[in-house]
This record gives sequence, C-alpha cells and structure tokens, in this order.
Amino acid sequence: MTEKDLFITENDADKQLYEDIITRTAKAIKDAFINDKAYTGPEPFDLKKVVEAVEILPDEGIGFENAFDRLNEVVLPNLLRTPSADYMAHLHGPSLLETIASELVISTFNQSMDSWDQSPVATEIEVAVIRELCRLFGYTAAVPASESASVPESVSAPDGVFTSGGSQSNETALLIARDWFCNEKLHLDVKKFGLPENFTKLRLYTSEISHFSMEKACHIMGLGYQSVVKVPVDEKQKMDIAALKHLLASDVAAGNIPFCVVATCGTTDFGSIDPMKEIAALCEEYGMWMHVDAAYGSGVIMSDDYRARVADIALSDSVTVDFHKMFMMPVSCSAVLIKDGRDMQALTIHADYLNREEDEEDGYTNLVDKSIQTTRRFDALKVWLSFQIRGRNGWSTLISTSMNNAAYLYGQFLQDPAFAVVTEPEISSVVFRLAPPSESAHADALKSGNGAGLLHAAEAFRWDEVNKKVRRSLIHEHGVVIGQTVAGGRVCLKFTLLNPRITHEKLDALLSLIKTLGARFSC
Ligand SMILES: *Cc1c(COP(=O)(O)O)cnc(C)c1O
Repeated sequence: MTEKDLFITENDADKQLYEDIITRTAKAIKDAFINDKAYTGPEPFDLKKVVEAVEILPDEGIGFENAFDRLNEVVLPNLLRTPSADYMAHLHGPSLLETIASELVISTFNQSMDSWDQSPVATEIEVAVIRELCRLFGYTAAVPASESASVPESVSAPDGVFTSGGSQSNETALLIARDWFCNEKLHLDVKKFGLPENFTKLRLYTSEISHFSMEKACHIMGLGYQSVVKVPVDEKQKMDIAALKHLLASDVAAGNIPFCVVATCGTTDFGSIDPMKEIAALCEEYGMWMHVDAAYGSGVIMSDDYRARVADIALSDSVTVDFHKMFMMPVSCSAVLIKDGRDMQALTIHADYLNREEDEEDGYTNLVDKSIQTTRRFDALKVWLSFQIRGRNGWSTLISTSMNNAAYLYGQFLQDPAFAVVTEPEISSVVFRLAPPSESAHADALKSGNGAGLLHAAEAFRWDEVNKKVRRSLIHEHGVVIGQTVAGGRVCLKFTLLNPRITHEKLDALLSLIKTLGARFSC
C-alpha cells in the first residue's frame, strides 16, 4: 500500500482496492475456522511470547502483505471463536452474520451519532429503532409510526439512546434517576448546582448479586459505594422483597433518603429475575425511580414461549437492554430506554459547534443531547437490519432454543449424583458443581449459602480444586470454554447458553466429558 492508498472513493481503482482488501480479509477469517473448537491457541505465557515478538511501530512500514501475514499467524488462529458451540463461558456470544455485514457498513461510512450533520440517515434510524424498542418493552402502546411522530413534545413519550454497553446504560439511567429525584423531591437541579447538602443520605437498593456497574455508577455520581444498599436474595437468587421492605423502613427511620431501586432481570451468573411487580409497587409507595437492569434478560422479550417472565419490565421507569449478549450482535451494542423521555434532559448541554438550539426547530436531531458520549457508533443499524431479516418469529425461535437448552441441562444435572446444581434457570445460564455424592444429596445447602458447612473444610476445598482443574483442562485440552464462579461459598462451574447451535446431544457429551475429567482430578 502506498501513501495514495487511503480510502474508498468514487474512483474505480480505490473501489477495487477496497473490494480486494475486504475479500482477502473475509477469506483469511474463513480459513481461521479450522474446526468447531472455541480455542486452539497457546497457554498464556506462550501467547505473550508470540505477541511480544512483533515490532508494532517500525520506522518504515512493512506493507500490507507482510502485516497481513502476521495477522494470519499471530492473531487469527489465537482468537476465541465465539460462534463455536463449545463456547459457553460468559454473556458474550457469537455475531449473527447480518450484524457482521452491518459492522462493515458502520466502519466504512464511519458516521458519528452526536449530531445530524455527522449521521443524517443514521440519526433517523436510531430514533426509529429506539421507538420500536419502546413498544417492544411495553413503554408505549403500539401506534403507527406516522401518528407517533405527531405527539407534542410536552406530553410524556418514552425515549432512549444507544450506548457502549450495559454498564453505560445503567450509568445513564441512574444519573437520570438521581437528577429526576433531586429535581422532583428535593427541588434541586443537580445538573446546575451539584449534589444536595445531604447527599450522603441518598440510597439506591439493588440485590447483593446485581452487577457491579451499580457501585461504579454511584461512585461516578459522587454518592460512593455507601449509597448502594445490597438487598439479600432468596434461594432462587431473586431479590428478597421482605428484606427490601425492611431495609426501606429502617433507612427512612434513620433519616436516609431512598431514591431508586434497581431490579435485575437476569442476574449475570444465574439469570434469575427479581420480582419486578413488587418492586414497582414499593417504588410507587416511596416515590422512588425504578430501573431494570435487563442487560441479560432483555432478549427473553423476543420469545413467544417465555416472554411473560420479563413482561413486567413495562412497569419500570428505565431499562437497560444489551444486544451484545442474548441478541448475539457484535460488541458494542446496547440501549437504555426511559419511560418519560423528558427526563433525558439531564444529559443535554448545548455546544455552539455541535447542537445549536435552533437546530431542533428545523428538524435536525442531535442525539448528543441524550448521551453521556459525544462521538458515538451507529450500532442501531445492527438491530434495524437483524430485526427485519428474522422478524418476530425468527427471533422467537432463536431465543426459545437457548432457554429450552438450559431447562434440559438443569434436568440432566438433577438426575445425576455426580453434580450439584444451584438453582433452576429462569433464562439460559446453569450454575453447577462436580461434587461428591454426600454433597449433591444436599444441594440445597449450595443455594442457602451453607455450602462451606457441609463437608469437612479440607474435603470441600479439594472439590473446589477439582472443579477449577476441570475448567482449565476443558480449555487447553478440549477447546471448550465454560464459566467459573462462586455460589454458597463454593467454586462452581457455569454454562451460559446463548448459542442456538448447541444441541441436547452436545450437552450430554460435555457432561460425560466433565464427569470423566472430574474422576481423573478427584483421585
Ligand atoms: C453484562 C451485564 C452488565 C454489563 O453490561 P456490559 O455490556 O458488559 O457493559 C450489566 N448488568 C448485567 C446484569 C449484566 O449481565
């Protein structure tokens, strides 16, 4: 490549070069799928050596051909192949084909979503996708797009914005929640004047197994971790409502100020769903904001068979939706929806060079008004394309397949004395542990947090090690990647089933492999 080979332009030679590079890249990617294993690269120390051998910024460039060879040698063979049915570790999945095509459009045209003049049709598409999502999650009654456009701005209409991920969606929602509360209840505009004098009294409630982005958000907002009250979970790993009521009453009695409850719809480890109806009622009673973190569980809305499990999201004031988890779209792709879109003004600040106030009157939408980011990706395209291509029915099948797989796997664990399983899955994650029969007979203890009391400490510790060794062996000897976490004080393993290519036969074969490895490491 020369200094003239820069961009795709209207010029035929540039177009040809673009096509050649994309075609060669596609071919190299295809060739990297040498088998169905998730990982076939080296162990960490060897991998570091391979990477460190490359001089990243030489004085003279080595040219496309040489660098492409290195891409083929160093990078592609050592990537995790997320489409593999052997990858089930995290809430991180494969990318649907049409969303990969979208990424090519996104990066080639490189729109930026902050102002209309950087993303004309992209802005309109994000707005339209957000409107569709507000209907999907029950924030708006279904009305034809032509009519909804004529709703006057002073009427509360739902709104939202695409974000970099669930963490940023949560952070955005909690910021809006705090500003709403301070405006409405304390008559203080935090955006202008900063935190109220008694800010150390503000309290946010969320379950003890909710995502750490709540603490991060409260830290960033100047409230600190101390503002986050961790509500215990019951044996199904759902927020204990009696405990929440008790905490609220005692906090109010102590002079603290509850402003928000975050319900998790799909906890990261267990996929458990907090009781959203009860939480909504308490938010109403105490005048608090209700946020739902559905980074994981949002995908369930697409399943005809299981939608009812998440339908109460409609009761919330805001919701986090992640498309790079159950929806299987490339990182990053997430949105936050706000039931009363006017509350998003918390994020509006006018800049002369970007989002002049007169623009709005003339129909120029500048989405920077709704985001904590400035330059921002056109991620909405992936949702726009994929929703059209697969439709409600296609999506329903994809999501239901993973949910059914989890139910099947749970049934297999229950039947097999080699395993103890923590809780019945509500979504598509199953947490379990290889255990001696004496322990699996008392699997309830894992749920209630008494796992440590069951066995002699040394024996329990020995089985923790067995589980860890099985997971390492699965990665490096079998190319299978599953998750590891802690439940009831004991090391557990985890299947996160996002990939609809996973079959019952596949799961059966893996369980028998895990048992064989368990037998090897436990004697
Ligand atoms: C994954 C996850 C998040 C964080 O989302 P990112 O997209 O990784 O930032 C937040 N909450 C829950 C429940 C999650 O599972």
